Amino acid sequence: TWFDPVAFCEALVNECQTTSGRNHRWELINHLTQHKVYLDQALLQQVLLNVLSNAVKYSPAHSQITLEMRDRPGGIQFSVRDEGIGLDPQDPPRLCDLFYRGSNVGTTPGTGLGLAIAKRCLDLCGGEISFENLPEGGLRVAIALPFHKTLQSSR
Ligand code: ATP
Ligand code: MG
Repeated sequence: TWFDPVAFCEALVNECQTTSGRNHRWELINHLTQHKVYLDQALLQQVLLNVLSNAVKYSPAHSQITLEMRDRPGGIQFSVRDEGIGLDPQDPPRLCDLFYRGSNVGTTPGTGLGLAIAKRCLDLCGGEISFENLPEGGLRVAIALPFHKTLQSSR
């Protein structure tokens, strides 16, 4: 369906904020040149909720989480940036493997399924996910999603 990605992300952020029980400073930055996008909402929600909940889980309360949206040829890119522990550079690049949990998690609970689910969702629609430790600390997760090809031209 067509929907407003900004309103959609605001709702997701509110959901994360209320369910996490921890206060973060949320920032939503929109660089998109269009007001409506055509994507599978349920799929996008599944992906973003997993990534946002990780940002909440692996960063201290009251730190900032930034969700950015920008145009990308034939699609859209979301990026989620936190000020948390980041990845252990010694860990293998297996974040999206089933049940994989990094050595950075300490006592933070989890099943290691969140990113495996997100990755499989993205595989279904030709999307991609990548991870990058930030020089100032924290992790940046980039999510690229193509729009539905046949509908792209009908706008
Ligand atoms: P689950 O999501 O199933 O509750 P989980 O969060 O451990 O458990 P994933 O979401 O699949 O599992 O993440 C896999 C691993 O990637 C985590 O265990 C952690 O090591 C690392 N990771 C994911 N997001 C972050 C982040 N924002 N900061 C630091 N490490 C992260
Ligand atoms: Mg997770």
